[in-house]
Amino acid sequence: MTARHVVRGRLLSFENGPDRPWYVEDGFLLIEDGVIAARGDLVDMPAADVPVTRYDGDLVMAGLIDTHIHYPQTQVIASYGAQLLDWLQRYTFVEEQRFADPAHAAAVAGFFLEELFRNGTTTAAVYCTVHANSVDAFFEASSARNSRMIAGKVMMDRGAPDGLLDTAERGHRESAAAIARWHGRGRQRYAVTPRFAPTSSEPQLEAAGDLLRAYPDCYLQTHLSENRDEIRAVAGLFPWSANYTQVYERFGLLGPRSIFGHCIHLSAAERRLLAESGSIAAFCPTSNLFIGSGLFDRRAMMDAGVTVSLATDVGGGTSYSMLRTAAEAYKILQLQGQNLPSFDAFHMMTAGNALALGLQDEIGTLEVGTAADLTVLRVGATAAMAHRMARVENLEQELFVLMTMGDDRAVRATWVAGVPVYTAEPQPQASA
Ligand SMILES: [Zn+2]
Repeated sequence: MTARHVVRGRLLSFENGPDRPWYVEDGFLLIEDGVIAARGDLVDMPAADVPVTRYDGDLVMAGLIDTHIHYPQTQVIASYGAQLLDWLQRYTFVEEQRFADPAHAAAVAGFFLEELFRNGTTTAAVYCTVHANSVDAFFEASSARNSRMIAGKVMMDRGAPDGLLDTAERGHRESAAAIARWHGRGRQRYAVTPRFAPTSSEPQLEAAGDLLRAYPDCYLQTHLSENRDEIRAVAGLFPWSANYTQVYERFGLLGPRSIFGHCIHLSAAERRLLAESGSIAAFCPTSNLFIGSGLFDRRAMMDAGVTVSLATDVGGGTSYSMLRTAAEAYKILQLQGQNLPSFDAFHMMTAGNALALGLQDEIGTLEVGTAADLTVLRVGATAAMAHRMARVENLEQELFVLMTMGDDRAVRATWVAGVPVYTAEPQPQASA
């Protein structure tokens, strides 16, 4: 039997890029077996005996996408007073050791996914810990929810407490086993995940490159050029390399499925390496401000032709909300005389991030044939937002207020593969 459902609301999708949103004021989505089967203006809806969920006045968009986040850091988010290298040693490396316990990993993975859904995020590129069981815990939790997730075991063989270290050989073996178990199973995808160059030896980076060559449809995720002390450490550890990016290039880690978190202090030569290889730079604004790392130069990246995505980087980042993330992105760009129009920001959170990940045929828009991963946003979620919204004159202004003032309170509902996985009070009216 086919599972069919209709969702009604204000439909908004950025499949045509940031400049030409597809928008229907009173529209319908017909969902069949988790996929958008038809869409359009309500007056054109085919008559059918299908349950309808009404989100009158709310924006129905593709589920939001977060291209860089750490699920083991849900209990170190908001840790005081340190920059990157200290922050890792004082907080993160202590916390991540808890994930040797499978029950702890399972409990946190469940919390993490529910928190993403509460924030309207339906897909993320996720770091686990060095423990193989942390990967199983995450993918089991995601599989149970049928969510499209990308994740991988952190590879780390130096510069951290013993309990968090693998070896080049063990990192390779456990990553390959996790790929065999999870990559392409349902909606799960694997990312080879060396944490960053300071915590991986050359043999381990070589092993990461081997994995990518053996499994070319896997992703690669790591950190790049976040903090000045980190860059100095990399220069000391890899004296043969002209710059940080070239370390990753040397081991075959650049490419169109490679996501590099931060990319703040890059030289023109490094931007060129990223652009020529089609690599993705993940802009993590709340993290960059909170850890005091620096200001991401989006214009320089785009002028160089680098693909830029948007991400929270929880727990260096301070919010799970992609709306808050876009608001902080705007402020970082303002400090550099750059701008971020609201259409651009909402495109990045949805179709843009999907395109960066090569998943545009499945997620990121409301196009027919894509997964019914949806977020429903209440533009007047708070009294102050509703009060401000009375003065907006068009969709662009409305979206700008929504991203500047909005957060998880603006998420009315989240759907994954045609199933509501989160609904805020009050419940929407469902009728047959
Ligand atoms: Zn990170």
